[in-house]
Amino acid sequence: MHELTGKLVKAEELPEEEKNFQKNYVKAPSFLSIHLGVKASVLPAGTDCHHFVLEDDWSNLEKPYGSIFLSIPTVLDPSLAPEGHHILHIFTTAGIEDWEGLPRKDYEQKKELVANEIIRRLENKLFPGLQDSIVLKEVGSPKTHRRFLARNDGTYGPMPRGKPKGLLAMPFNTTSIDGLYCVGDSCFPGQGVIAVAFSGVMCAHRVAADIDLEQRSPILDTGLLGVLRWLRTLA
Ligand SMILES: Cc1cc2nc3c(=O)[nH]c(=O)nc-3n(C[C@H](O)[C@H](O)[C@H](O)COP(=O)(O)OP(=O)(O)OC[C@H]3O[C@@H](n4cnc5c(N)ncnc54)[C@H](O)[C@@H]3O)c2cc1C
Repeated sequence: MHELTGKLVKAEELPEEEKNFQKNYVKAPSFLSIHLGVKASVLPAGTDCHHFVLEDDWSNLEKPYGSIFLSIPTVLDPSLAPEGHHILHIFTTAGIEDWEGLPRKDYEQKKELVANEIIRRLENKLFPGLQDSIVLKEVGSPKTHRRFLARNDGTYGPMPRGKPKGLLAMPFNTTSIDGLYCVGDSCFPGQGVIAVAFSGVMCAHRVAADIDLEQRSPILDTGLLGVLRWLRTLA
């Protein structure tokens, strides 16, 4: 839906329904992602797959670089890495504004500096000797996510602005523009791969029913969807 604004449809021509979505939802920030290949010896025996690091101060929870998410898939499936090694996928929230406008050299330097600081924090909290155990390191900034995922500002996805109004405040697959359908994490039921797959199935059904390839369901099409749409106007 965010892709509609100012890209496919001019901002001033947006239908009311889409304008409401913009009012109620905001782009979540992006991420700094670090993929590491490390020597297996740095992980103590019995290390878990998933970790979340928030040092001391809860007020840092939502701040950029404030908390660190870490997954080690090779704990569950060692065949994913060469023998004697593990893969660490580390990420922390970061905004695109922090990375714009830097000359190439400064940008590369900043990626290195910020990533090393995150690694240092993990070294302090979880895995002493982490820095020296690294055999491969790839760092992705919000710009990387914008470029390679074609996500607006590298965003994780939409999130409610202020107090959550519930999933029903999200758009369904149809729009006020005849023949224009929406699918993906800006639509009900929202962010994440599973939710998006569901949105895709719903949209495929909607399109097929609208062009008479699939039987319409009077109860679903007019009854239930009508109630859901009405609920949305209250959200
Ligand atoms: C860094 C990151 C990590 C994430 N991790 C997880 C996770 O671990 N688990 C999880 O469930 N979810 C995760 N998410 C969220 C999840 O990836 C998204 O909610 C989901 O992929 C959204 O699917 P989508 O189809 O709506 O959009 P996308 O997957 O972004 O697909 C949109 C497609 O449209 C294309 N596109 C964009 N503009 C144009 C254009 N003008 N013309 C043609 N094509 C265009 C893009 O190239 C892209 O292929 C993550 C998101 C990010 C950014």
